[in-house]
Amino acid sequence: LYNQVQDLKGNIRVYCRVRPQFGAQLNSLSCVDNIDDRTITVLTPTKNGKEGRKSFTFNKIFSPSVTQAEVFSDTQPLIRSVLDGFNVCIFAYGQTGSGKTHTMSGPKELTEEGLGVNYRALGDLFELSNQRKETISYEISVQMLEIYNEQVKDLLATDGATKRYPLYLAYVYLECYISQNGINVPDANLVRVSSTSDVINLMNLGQKNRTVFSTAMNDRSSRSHSCLTVHVQGKDLTSGNVLHASMHLVDLAGSERVDKSEVTGDRLKEAQHINKSLAALGDVIASLASKSSHVPYRNSKLTQLLQDSLGGQAKTLMFVHIAPEYEAHGETLSTLKFAERVATV
Ligand code: ADP
Ligand code: MG
Repeated sequence: LYNQVQDLKGNIRVYCRVRPQFGAQLNSLSCVDNIDDRTITVLTPTKNGKEGRKSFTFNKIFSPSVTQAEVFSDTQPLIRSVLDGFNVCIFAYGQTGSGKTHTMSGPKELTEEGLGVNYRALGDLFELSNQRKETISYEISVQMLEIYNEQVKDLLATDGATKRYPLYLAYVYLECYISQNGINVPDANLVRVSSTSDVINLMNLGQKNRTVFSTAMNDRSSRSHSCLTVHVQGKDLTSGNVLHASMHLVDLAGSERVDKSEVTGDRLKEAQHINKSLAALGDVIASLASKSSHVPYRNSKLTQLLQDSLGGQAKTLMFVHIAPEYEAHGETLSTLKFAERVATV
């Protein structure tokens, strides 16, 4: 099945997507020197007046002209394996402005072609589960969570009394632990979905919750991780066997290094939390990639949250995003180095 394709290639893959240049940057110099299907070459900082180049190889490179549909089609087999009972994690990694949200959700003015991985993934799961409905009965539900400063919050929290979405009336911190039915944040709202429009409505609500809070906190969205978790339960209509699987679709906080001499107070604290959790994620994936016996899941909320979907039979995909502007070459290089460490190609 879908799984066989994956097994040949290992359970961790890294795709690199290069954002187009636009506006005033359109004709400006780029730090990306060359791209082919699997290799990207970037300029490295100038040393002694000499410009260097460094190449990186990943499972796939998406050039700036690649469409959302093309990105999705390379992700689809992985997503489909959730219906066969495999846990899946898909991450978007990169500096702020490199295209993470574009890949996962799409542009602000959402069009059919612009739909990101999240929407397409759910659409595909509905379609496939419908095709299988004579043999397996599937239930699909979602949670939306945010991790900010090592605290987990429910983006689908409702006001208990009115059941409306109160936009953070209460700032509830949640615990991660794996409950009996395999749900790892049992106290977060879990909403049954059965169509793409259900999903779009929920994502809009989650997004609204996120933005309302983030304006108050000065665009928090780039400084928090957001996670859409899809829970699948499938009952085999012949044998009665039930399978559970989950997929986490994670739009990570911006990976840019923050200059400690320039930020203080809350900004510094945020930056430290982000660095710590991205480093913890890198450590976990790298230790899985090297088949190390100890995997340090407990070093961050992010890795605790995703623990059941990282390692073992689970499948991981990291989209690393590159901003091609020349000025970004320092960040681009550190992004690619991070990615290289977790890639097993
Ligand atoms: P991030 O989430 O990493 O901060 P965004 O996804 O918000 O970055 O992208 C920054 C801007 O670039 C947005 O306006 C987005 O729509 C645009 N953008 C990003 N990737 C692409 C792409 N592949 N094609 C066209 N526009 C893109
Ligand atoms: Mg974003």
